[in-house]
Amino acid sequence: MRPFTYERALDMREAAAAVAARPGAKFIAGGTNLLDLMKLGVERPVHLVDISRLPLAGIDETEDGGLRIGAQVRNSALAADPRVRRSYPVLARALLAGASGQLRNKASTGGNLLQRTRCFYFTNAAMPCNKRTPGSGCAALEGFNRIHAILGVDRAIGERGCICTHPSDMAVAMMALDATLETIRPDGGTRRLALDGFYTAPDERPDLETALHADEMITAVVLPPPLPGRQLYLKVRDRASYAFALVSVAAVLDVSDGRIRGSRVAMGGVAHKPWRMVAAEQVLDGAEANDATFAAAADAALRDAQGFGHNDFKIELAKRTLRRALSDAVNV
Ligand SMILES: Cc1cc2nc3c(=O)[nH]c(=O)nc-3n(C[C@H](O)[C@H](O)[C@H](O)COP(=O)(O)OP(=O)(O)OC[C@H]3O[C@@H](n4cnc5c(N)ncnc54)[C@H](O)[C@@H]3O)c2cc1C
Repeated sequence: MRPFTYERALDMREAAAAVAARPGAKFIAGGTNLLDLMKLGVERPVHLVDISRLPLAGIDETEDGGLRIGAQVRNSALAADPRVRRSYPVLARALLAGASGQLRNKASTGGNLLQRTRCFYFTNAAMPCNKRTPGSGCAALEGFNRIHAILGVDRAIGERGCICTHPSDMAVAMMALDATLETIRPDGGTRRLALDGFYTAPDERPDLETALHADEMITAVVLPPPLPGRQLYLKVRDRASYAFALVSVAAVLDVSDGRIRGSRVAMGGVAHKPWRMVAAEQVLDGAEANDATFAAAADAALRDAQGFGHNDFKIELAKRTLRRALSDAVNV
């Protein structure tokens, strides 16, 4: 690991100012992703600003009946919160499907959203990777791309492109729940950003992954009031635990009298960001809750999917996983 300096922040605005003051500085929260990448030589921050002790570990009810989750809330605390378990079970289940108990005790809400891809070529500093070194090429395109993206990749192919997937389980559930992020900058300015628009497409600059400025810190994630209906998170992976998703589904289905009154569906493991399945929702809303509808929704959702050889199987896997998740959601 390269030498770096370290300080612990005690104030949100000062934390952002400390990162702004040192080009190449980074926030560190749980450190479960950043330190790994520093050891691999992928991340090379010159200075770390530790934000883990900031007063951002609360989970509060909002005026409209939603929840504001501080950026320093640990994944294990969020999954165990009774309000999350009761009203946002898709989120609790997604969190518990991720990593291990020890990791979840360290991993923070903000850090989980900003964890970086598990693409083999991104984490191997000896290989070309446009996300690590823009313009160096994408070894995954012609390489072993079994875990790579099948959606949102059309324009990303080529010399400057990237076909990696986003690894977070939590973010998939938050995408289905229409979460928004709150941020702060060194001048004290704050922003609210919809999670749906937060992650940027890898077309031209795969190294830039979100709409966040380098000196901007996530302070909270806000969930709208609970949606009616049943919630389910289904994750398919190579091992039964302690593995990232090949594909995953977060589904909220409001069914009464055998008809779907409303739906929210997002998938993980299929794109550079948690992918909201709008085409599936359009098929589902108002339709009868039966297997023919679920199959049609899955076909619509994966209509534009594209494989790169080793990951071709993911298209059928994603369809089947979505169909099964929708069917299971009716019977939760
Ligand atoms: C072996 C292993 C298995 C795993 N399995 C899974 C899995 O199955 N599913 C899954 O979803 N995850 C999995 N993870 C990833 C884990 O969930 C993440 O490492 C963790 O959530 C990151 O949170 P952190 O607080 O440790 O982030 P850090 O490592 O501290 O930070 C990550 C990044 O976010 C930035 N950052 C952190 N907080 C903020 C903030 N508030 N504002 C702005 N920037 C910020 C940092 O600068 C850094 O770039 C696994 C990790 C490991 C090591």
